[in-house]
Amino acid sequence: MTTEIEELYQEVILDHSRRPRNFGELPDAAVRVHGDNPACGDEIHLAVKFDADGGLEDIKFTGRGCAISQASASLMTMKLKGKSRSDVTELLRAFHDLVTDETTEGPKTLGDLRVMQGVRKFPQRVKCAMLPWRAAKQRFRQNRSNRARCFTWSSSDSKMRPPSIGVCTKKAE
Ligand code: ZN
Repeated sequence: MTTEIEELYQEVILDHSRRPRNFGELPDAAVRVHGDNPACGDEIHLAVKFDADGGLEDIKFTGRGCAISQASASLMTMKLKGKSRSDVTELLRAFHDLVTDETTEGPKTLGDLRVMQGVRKFPQRVKCAMLPWRAAKQRFRQNRSNRARCFTWSSSDSKMRPPSIGVCTKKAE
């Protein structure tokens, strides 16, 4: 990684962790996903609303944890909001490759997210960066209707666990 990208990486992560975009509740979101990364103590709560074609009409997040997990969530929501289903699928794949594959600089469509390749050298940080993306991906694999539902995902078991009751009661902090 060049010094220039390293500096940009620091700058973007600091900026987004201090002033996260799309941070907050989405009152009319029917779909919520909670992801946690016990290794670092990161938590991400995604609230998602799909349009009629299964595109991502709106997405917001709350959570707490390290700067990388929060910055990654902030950048992700900016990137995915308003995207069609196929674009979202493509971006999820591209970001995964970016932070795990040494040989790619990532497609231009990733924009600022390309600086996140800085986590590659640190496997624990890859988990932090991937947390919001894994949560979003798991959600996208499930059915895409706006019916009220809630899922929990943890990097420790990598399985979606439906809540024990059908209503999402876990409030963001
Ligand atoms: Zn973390």
